[in-house]
Amino acid sequence: MKAHKAELALLGGPPAFRTMLHVGRPNLPDRARLLERFNDLLDRNWLTNNGPLVGELEQRVAELTGVKHCVAMCNGTVALEIAIRALGLTGEVIVPSFTFVATAHALQWQQITPVFCDINPETHTIDPAQVEALITPHTSGIIGVHLWGRGCDTEALQAIAHRRGLALLFDAAHAFACTRGGKPIGGAGRAEVFSFHATKFFNTFEGGAVTTNDDALAEKMRLIKNFGFAGYDNVVEIGTNGKMPEICAAMGLCGLDCLDEFIATNRRNYAAYARDLQGLRGLRLLPYDESEKNNYQYIVVEIDPGAAGLRRDELVKVLHAENVLARRYFWPGCHRMEPYRSLYQQAGRVLPATDRVADRVIVLPTGAAVGPEQIATLCSIIRRALDRAGEVREALAAT
Ligand SMILES: *Cc1c(COP(=O)(O)O)cnc(C)c1O
Repeated sequence: MKAHKAELALLGGPPAFRTMLHVGRPNLPDRARLLERFNDLLDRNWLTNNGPLVGELEQRVAELTGVKHCVAMCNGTVALEIAIRALGLTGEVIVPSFTFVATAHALQWQQITPVFCDINPETHTIDPAQVEALITPHTSGIIGVHLWGRGCDTEALQAIAHRRGLALLFDAAHAFACTRGGKPIGGAGRAEVFSFHATKFFNTFEGGAVTTNDDALAEKMRLIKNFGFAGYDNVVEIGTNGKMPEICAAMGLCGLDCLDEFIATNRRNYAAYARDLQGLRGLRLLPYDESEKNNYQYIVVEIDPGAAGLRRDELVKVLHAENVLARRYFWPGCHRMEPYRSLYQQAGRVLPATDRVADRVIVLPTGAAVGPEQIATLCSIIRRALDRAGEVREALAAT
């Protein structure tokens, strides 16, 4: 490809990619089948309120995750909020700061204090060894996050939750169709929460679900997501509107038929990145554990500025100039975002690994819109930027 030889865009060359490469481009199912499902549901004229497609989706997700109950919701954030409320969490809940801000918002929205815990810098997931020191008499629960689709240490968290009488919930927004210890993610703790947002591995446009083996909890979440209605006109508790519409379930059902295809594409891309980034000084591609089932949705690279010669933000600018919209997820960490930055000014003291990792991570594009050839070009851009780090820094300083 010509792009290999071209000058970096920041140093005066044209962008290597004519059209933008995005992170989080939706994984789309077969269009003909999708339109067929849309037609069916319009013919049925049953658009929402626990329709047959939502029921079918819930059943298939419960099977796939190996749990008794799946409760579909309008999005992952509301699913988290409803799970938190149904569990009766109050006071303080321990949660990693290195996550999408919705994990923290779902607590603060209900006047529950998120108490931020540091991560293991190797895995990027909550460090169970640091949870116990954060427990106070006000603590009611722990939320583990399976960041990047990599299961967090559910066993260690379960042991702490059990010993200290805390509820354990998981934010599994990234981890649909993944396993931990060979078991599907979805059945750990009291419940696990998925997001089916368009940018996630598996999407229903917008959507989410809670999976649980707890009959009473599932029943309670079904009430809460439907305004507390127990019957036609019998409201038994305060609720909200967390319902998933039928058209979203249709998208989900078609997506479920394509999971293997989505995984194969992402896995091919991950292998291409692993090959093409090999040997680059100061760069670390976060590995997937090949003994687990992964969805390979996140290509996560850490940049050590000392060894690489460029800081993460500089490399992001290099990539943006080439029309590669790499993202710095999840920067700067929830504890540095409002309202948490103002409310809990001391939180950062115990989060050195979070701060370091959040300053170093780049997420690169994958999915069906990206193939090995583009990945080779993209990685050669990174290689040349590191080779000419001094010039790149000068060019950036001049802009
Ligand atoms: C996407 C995401 C959410 C929120 O899900 P939505 O469906 O977008 O509301 C929650 N937690 C994490 C870790 C996420 O990535």
